[in-house]
Amino acid sequence: MKIGFIGLGIMGSRMAFNLLNAGYDLKVYNRTKEKAEELLNNGAHWADSAKEAGEGVDILFSMLEKPAVVEEMATGSEGFLSGMQKDALWIDCSTVNPSFSERMSNLAIKTGIRFMDVPVSGSKVPAEEGELLFLAGGTKEDFEEAKPLFLKMGKDAVHIGPAGKGSAMKIMINQLLGQSILAFSESLNLGMAMGIDKKTGMDILLKTPVTAPILDVFRSRIENNDYEPNFPLKHLQKDLHLFTETAYELGQPSPLTSTAEEIYGLAKHKNMADLDFTAVFKYLHEKE
Ligand code: NAP
Repeated sequence: MKIGFIGLGIMGSRMAFNLLNAGYDLKVYNRTKEKAEELLNNGAHWADSAKEAGEGVDILFSMLEKPAVVEEMATGSEGFLSGMQKDALWIDCSTVNPSFSERMSNLAIKTGIRFMDVPVSGSKVPAEEGELLFLAGGTKEDFEEAKPLFLKMGKDAVHIGPAGKGSAMKIMINQLLGQSILAFSESLNLGMAMGIDKKTGMDILLKTPVTAPILDVFRSRIENNDYEPNFPLKHLQKDLHLFTETAYELGQPSPLTSTAEEIYGLAKHKNMADLDFTAVFKYLHEKE
């Protein structure tokens, strides 16, 4: 089976490596070629364009920043949809909005290509260790065909529903992720301003059931002021935007997420775009 992989950032490079290690014949493309170097040194083939990455493969993965980038890579002048053979399967793992995934699905089907939106839950370390959770939108048949590949990159894969439903599930998860760390940061910062020692504040908050368990994983980043990106802050703001955009499309109120989106947006403008998203603690901590 021939596999193509487009987008070798923090997540894509690690996911592609797990496919390569599992013995798949892998062709890769990334805007910045240097990020492919290790994969190429280990037997992956280089494609000079997204179109070339799609040529002759049975399954093509994309793991790109945001909807506009996915669309450009798929449908631009060197886009992969024009290079893929009929009936091949495009699996978009990028975090995008459900209506975008539905639109990509329709576009792909029109050109004779099968489509799935399969974003992942889990960050840099789970991607490296093959511990991601795949959330799949698309047909059940395509899901079953691709599942062995998901299980080379992840610990589980769940078929959520038709095209768009993987993306729907993903933005629900990231909305909670963004809100949890923000609420925690606001509480801890006020605690510190009230004279509660940072370590004590964290210890107690993390022991109470009102704190999301995932925050224990992020504790050391806040404690050590170490915001090297696992999940860049600009991507989390993007995901909150995908949520509010979807809420608008469906006429559903999303007041808390709108506020959170703006806070991450402000942090972005304080040079925190490429820091880990947990830097929102630092943003709330720093007074002018
Ligand atoms: P990343 O390291 O910033 O990688 C982004 C990828 O998109 C890179 O391959 C980048 O190419 C490409 N890209 C960006 N703008 C482009 C453009 N204009 N033209 C062509 N390619 C472009 O991000 P990541 O963390 O791997 O995230 C990728 C996706 O997974 C995002 O949708 C993110 O929300 C989602 N996600 C991330 C995590 C996480 O913890 N990091 C977890 C789950 C899901 P270059 O290398 O050339 O910049």
